[in-house]
Amino acid sequence: RFAEEQLIRKKYHNQIQDMKGSVRVFCRFRPLAKREEDLGDIPVLHKADAFSVDLQRLAPHNDTRRFDFDAVFGGDSPQEEVFRDWEDLVQSVVDGYNVTIFAYGQTGAGKTHTMYGTHDHPGLAPRSIDSLFHLIHREERQGRKSFTVKAYMIELYKQEILDLLVEARRENSKEKQLQIKKDAGRGIMFVEGVCERQIHGPDELKAVLAEGERRRHTAATAMNTSSSRSHLLLSIIVEATAKDNDQVIYGKITLCDLAGSERLKKSEVSGDALKEAIEINKSLTALGDVIEALSKGSKNVPYRNHKLTMLMQDSLGGSAKTLMFVNCSPASSNAEETLTSLKWATRAKQVTNDVKRNADCKEVARLKQVIAMMSQAQSAEEP
Ligand code: ADP
Ligand code: MG
Repeated sequence: RFAEEQLIRKKYHNQIQDMKGSVRVFCRFRPLAKREEDLGDIPVLHKADAFSVDLQRLAPHNDTRRFDFDAVFGGDSPQEEVFRDWEDLVQSVVDGYNVTIFAYGQTGAGKTHTMYGTHDHPGLAPRSIDSLFHLIHREERQGRKSFTVKAYMIELYKQEILDLLVEARRENSKEKQLQIKKDAGRGIMFVEGVCERQIHGPDELKAVLAEGERRRHTAATAMNTSSSRSHLLLSIIVEATAKDNDQVIYGKITLCDLAGSERLKKSEVSGDALKEAIEINKSLTALGDVIEALSKGSKNVPYRNHKLTMLMQDSLGGSAKTLMFVNCSPASSNAEETLTSLKWATRAKQVTNDVKRNADCKEVARLKQVIAMMSQAQSAEEP
């Protein structure tokens, strides 16, 4: 039955692969930490089936709320399993699409773990890099196309864009302010003056990533804040040149580790921490508004409301494919934040009148039901 479930999952993901312009939402929650357990926390988030999660609210609420997603990964889901569900999208990048994946959630919920992971448990970024070069090499061996890969890595802190691939810029130097521009030729957004590194292989790209990560931490320390208070964007641009007619197509993959979504704390009533919190709040609201507009099939998508959404404009909507992770903590002490995150993510639900899209949605819904029935049957059999 495992093989059968894999087959159905595969079909389901092929459907996803086809859904251009759509936003898929995956929920992932981490295991309860030992430290939380010691403090008397209990897990209140439970995976109901492959697509649903239940949030149990303790007294005085004493209720359970269910949320449905395109996939749910619980604390025992290894990184491989999470990546399997997104691997196909890497092929889309090689085929000339813009693809974006981002992680949303409160600090400590597992965003960085999902996006970057650790040496022993690599996350989506290193896995995508391996997969990307594997696919590129395969196509190159066929001899019809040649590829150039470039990458840039930036951080958006409050309203400021920092280039993570160049040495720390001087404070307050206006000339170094990076501007967001549209590159009509390549059909992508780009940051004017950003360092775009040409990359020759997966290890080189991973080294670049590590370099950017290091700089992000240094910059955060210098500004007396935490790196979880900024948005991190890694963009990998893939240029494919057809050998017979020199036609070039561009694909881009953007991996985004968002700032923590936690709400204002009482301790942040003034000063820099408050400004920081307000700006994060603004940016995440702007992102939510864009996603909601896209989900509704609106003609007017408010990309220009924030630099974050301007940066992601080419990767959200249009022919772009988007995968969003909502990362959650399972701990009872975080239940309110978790509820807020789940509600935010639920806004991204697919509601569109596009005929083709609707047919796809029906098929996806059908497959989803089959998988849900399978996991139910499976848990019934378990002692
Ligand atoms: P965030 O980036 O959202 O602030 P992190 O990714 O840094 O959160 O995760 C917080 C802690 O929880 C880290 O120690 C991380 O290793 C651990 N963690 C997160 N997700 C998982 C998971 N799925 N399995 C095991 N540990 C996890
Ligand atoms: Mg993080």
